[in-house]
Amino acid sequence: MSAQGETPISRRLSKVKHIIIVCSGKGGVGKSSVSVQVALSLYASSPNTRVGILDVDLTGPSIPRMLGLDGHPVHQSTDGWVPVYADGGEARLACMSVAFLLKKKDDSVVWRGPKKNAMIRQFLSDVRWGELDYLIIDTPPGTSDEHISLIEHLSPVHSRLSGIVVTTPQAVALLDAMKCISFARTVSLPLLGVIENMSGYACPCCGEISNVFSTGGGESMAKRENIPFLGTLPIDTELVTLLDAAETEQEDDKPTGDEVHEGFRLLGR
Ligand code: ADP
Repeated sequence: MSAQGETPISRRLSKVKHIIIVCSGKGGVGKSSVSVQVALSLYASSPNTRVGILDVDLTGPSIPRMLGLDGHPVHQSTDGWVPVYADGGEARLACMSVAFLLKKKDDSVVWRGPKKNAMIRQFLSDVRWGELDYLIIDTPPGTSDEHISLIEHLSPVHSRLSGIVVTTPQAVALLDAMKCISFARTVSLPLLGVIENMSGYACPCCGEISNVFSTGGGESMAKRENIPFLGTLPIDTELVTLLDAAETEQEDDKPTGDEVHEGFRLLGR
């Protein structure tokens, strides 16, 4: 660390204005899909907004697949790793994930804490994020080694950090979401709010929402804990189709910015 308290990570992230950590208590509640939707909404919010999405769900990385970037190689430059851009030439939507570093996409990552910690440090210090308005970080479910590493490594830029908690309406998910809230309090991570995903079912024909499970649990939890409630997302079959069908593009037919806007029209709404 230099005299001014600078670290390789704070230097690398010096032009990143906001860093948003997305957490969930449980797996499968839609944390990665919400991370992607948050990133795409911010990307689409203005033609100049620059967004990065970092996938630190090391054992279950799914962001590249959701963005149609599966199998893309990561290039190493003299100044570090070049992130993969999901919007081709516009280069306003940057992505980095351990999935880009695996030889085969179904290879598994079986690492103990120290190796995960080293990987996270490298993602934060070695990726050429450049100038970003927002860096969205998708984390594994729960509050694990990865979360502790992130908070420790990002301590020099703590004033730019915030978090979002994703939950589903069911009591078990809410119980685990409370653990994320309590973790955030312990590490003084300000929470932007709670998102209740899979809240009701959106009929593909008429869009009407029916409540297959309970609903509103996320909102009451947010109220009770004095945290903003950011809203609900229904179960949407079109969303699943879009996320699952995101095909990998070849290098020379990467989508243009306009195609990304159109392709992710639904996700970014
Ligand atoms: P997590 O990151 O919490 O493990 P994912 O984002 O990978 O969860 O989502 C798990 C599965 O649920 C994925 O197949 C995703 O497409 C689907 N999914 C997430 N949110 C919704 C939603 N609102 N409507 C329908 N399917 C969803």
